Amino acid sequence: MLNHNASLRDADPVVAALVDRELHRQQNGLQLIASENFASRAVIDAVGTPLTNKYAEGYPGKRYYGGCEVVDEVERLAIDRAIELFGADHANVQPHSGSQANFAAYMALIRPGELLMGLSLPHGGHLTHGHKVSHTGIVWQAVHYGVDTATGRIDYDAVRDQAKRDRPRLIVAGGSAYPRIIDFAAFRSIADEIDAFFLVDMAHFAGLVAGGAHPSPVPFADVVTSTTHKTLRGPRAGLILCREEFARRIDKSVFPGHQGGPMEHAIAAKAVAFGEALTSDFQDYAHATVENARTMAQALGGYGFDLVSGGTDTHLMLVDLRPKKLTGKAAESILERAGIIVNKNTIPDDPESPFVTSGIRLGTPAMTTRGLGPLEMEHIAELINRALTRPDEATLAAVRDDVNELTEAFPLYQPMVEAVF
Ligand SMILES: *Cc1c(COP(=O)(O)O)cnc(C)c1O
Repeated sequence: MLNHNASLRDADPVVAALVDRELHRQQNGLQLIASENFASRAVIDAVGTPLTNKYAEGYPGKRYYGGCEVVDEVERLAIDRAIELFGADHANVQPHSGSQANFAAYMALIRPGELLMGLSLPHGGHLTHGHKVSHTGIVWQAVHYGVDTATGRIDYDAVRDQAKRDRPRLIVAGGSAYPRIIDFAAFRSIADEIDAFFLVDMAHFAGLVAGGAHPSPVPFADVVTSTTHKTLRGPRAGLILCREEFARRIDKSVFPGHQGGPMEHAIAAKAVAFGEALTSDFQDYAHATVENARTMAQALGGYGFDLVSGGTDTHLMLVDLRPKKLTGKAAESILERAGIIVNKNTIPDDPESPFVTSGIRLGTPAMTTRGLGPLEMEHIAELINRALTRPDEATLAAVRDDVNELTEAFPLYQPMVEAVF
């Protein structure tokens, strides 16, 4: 007999054991994947609530289902907090992910077949900025700008020339491996010159914006899309902000255009995360994340690592491993054996394929959440250097010992035992 009241642990020990193993993996390594973070216990609790049971197609006060009086308040709270946090006119908190947010936002602004322009994927952009394997590159035509390979930075004059030549209807800024602050005012003026819409995808740096450690795109963009689970440290989901004139179009595009019922449990968790992000503690966190990235970048530079653009203004950095005669694939796997988790990443004009790559991307959001600071960042840079310089068993075991010491000194989800969830 199914016991509907049994906890996960009692009802399905197989799944529970997998959750335990994943928690253990997260606790016992250095998680340096730039797009990852550790949501608070409160955020995770909100995701695991009976709000998952409720259908609520529509928007607060305008639903297609009865019984929405409570989830209306939940969603209203998330919207109000998002608006307060980012100073936007309007927020849609229903997108299930960053990709869904982008698709819905593009659909609200331009018709299928029209032209959009975004940062190219191998230069740090994102698949959903019109890459040919993404539906965004199938539904819309796309052209891409890159970074100047000498500086690793966006060349705004080159973007302007290209925009005037190709005349996209929508310009997208933002990316997943661009370590520098983007000049939103420059993009705005380029978009105005050709009468295009301007969208900023702040999926990566939204938490830095929320915490005041990065300029905000909100005053410049027509629409701002984001994830909520990267630097913003909320549940795995998406968000759209826009100026008032686009509010109705955006809402219609998300629902009924692109999605069905909203995930009110995830929306509740977004409300919790936005509430956290409104605190001064979160401002400290955002600044510490950037400071940690800067420190790690400098320390890696001291070991002769070549950073694309020479460093970082944000939470992430891109290491060009060619001078070290290593591929991204090899480095990722060596570091993983020592308990340091990173991802291989293309560098601008990478001679290797996307499955091999010449770079690795490193980020500090997750380890900053655990409380690591500049001293630990220098230590991590030293560990990375040691592992990649001499990747033999003895060295990697010694590095792994240091990693264990670090993770024990900065516990995640105390008490640090298995089965806390
Ligand atoms: C992560 C990311 C996305 C996609 O988010 P998902 O939630 O994985 O769909 C979109 N755009 C950028 C720039 C990203 O970094």
